[in-house]
Amino acid sequence: MTKRVEAVQAEMKQCWNLTETFSRRALEEFQSQRLGALVRYLEQRNPYHQKRFRKAGLEAKNFRGLADLHRLPFSEKKHMQQALETTLPLLPNRDLLRWHQTSGTSGTPTRFPDSRRDWIAYSDLAASALFAMGVRREDTALAAFSYGPHIAFWSYLSGLDRIGTTVVAAGGLTSEARMGLLVDYKVTVLLGTPSYALHLAAIAPSMGVDLAKDCQIRLIVTTAEPNPPELKQKLRKCWGAAVYDRLGSTETGGIAFECPENPNLYHLQENYLIAEILDEDDQLVHPGEDGELIINTLIRRSMPLVRLRTGDIVRRSRSEGCPCGRSFLSLQSTQNGAIVRRMDDMRKVRGVLLSPSEIGKIVQEQPGIGEQYQAIIHTCDNSDEITLRVEPLPNTSPARSQKIKRELERKFYQRLLLRFNIEVLEYGSLPRVADKAQKIIDQRLGK
Ligand SMILES: [Zn+2]
Repeated sequence: MTKRVEAVQAEMKQCWNLTETFSRRALEEFQSQRLGALVRYLEQRNPYHQKRFRKAGLEAKNFRGLADLHRLPFSEKKHMQQALETTLPLLPNRDLLRWHQTSGTSGTPTRFPDSRRDWIAYSDLAASALFAMGVRREDTALAAFSYGPHIAFWSYLSGLDRIGTTVVAAGGLTSEARMGLLVDYKVTVLLGTPSYALHLAAIAPSMGVDLAKDCQIRLIVTTAEPNPPELKQKLRKCWGAAVYDRLGSTETGGIAFECPENPNLYHLQENYLIAEILDEDDQLVHPGEDGELIINTLIRRSMPLVRLRTGDIVRRSRSEGCPCGRSFLSLQSTQNGAIVRRMDDMRKVRGVLLSPSEIGKIVQEQPGIGEQYQAIIHTCDNSDEITLRVEPLPNTSPARSQKIKRELERKFYQRLLLRFNIEVLEYGSLPRVADKAQKIIDQRLGK
């Protein structure tokens, strides 16, 4: 066996796909060719993008790949349904393998078709991230998600299948039943949201399960919710397992994974996509700076993403390169997780930019109250006011409610430099909404 073959085999033990070992130059050449192919395909086959390219004065025959990336028109999530309606009649049903949809938090859900070819590539992308985080064929995994329309569960399942990992089916079960499966099947890898992993750990003692003795979980892969370093630490402590996070959405699919060799650094999977992090003037940010994440998928043909503005503000890592050898662009985790904040949900109150996730985080940390809340921004004597309604847990005494009110007022002022009027209502009196953006009601004129 030649030394070169041995070297490639050694690399393959660490990487799922050899493109992960490309130098920056080789990777950019690879992306450039794929982007050119995507533009040619869209010009020929996709009326929605054809029209947009024409408007931008762009022709596939003159397109120079990455060097011309900036010439491609931006797209936004709100236009995706329109893109689909234009394209769908041209997609033969016999070629489609999957439909998924978003949760529809900002109105009608957006639906996403994937062809057989798309889905195979997609599974490869999921396998690549899972493999990098340490999942192997010898593992037994449990994906603690429901049989939902979002892409996360399905892409993980397909990714695990590609690796050959044994999967314990666990959809539609109670947490207690899932905990039973974790113990019985000696599950080694748990996939789920960070809050659910925490919840499972919390119910273990009441079931007589000692996580250290009865459970074999060695790795937890989290997704779908922010998992800041503090929360990861908590999970590591409860489970005695490694905890790595993955970033993605139903629109974009999986896009980045946390590197075990450099925790809190998320590698964007640039061998399957092209990512840009842009400032307010749409210029690339420098290392260490924050900007909006823009995504182009290189593998999806049924629902291609061309410079999709995700609305997610992320932080570009300070350093280039990683001990793992990947030359991918990376995101630095912040105290809010991989996404620093959302652009569109921000509200400005008395000059302070407020994000629903920041409010949600403080509410979540406060003992003695439920997770529901409602923040109402209104005008009083020409000044903006913010009132936050929360619910105490059942059977909370009036004295305890008063204490919660004082504690929350102090915390909000300390953390956000804004005075919040806190109202502690009765348990069960607030509407049950899952989307953080719907928990903020802006009653100011013109909002
Ligand atoms: Zn790395």
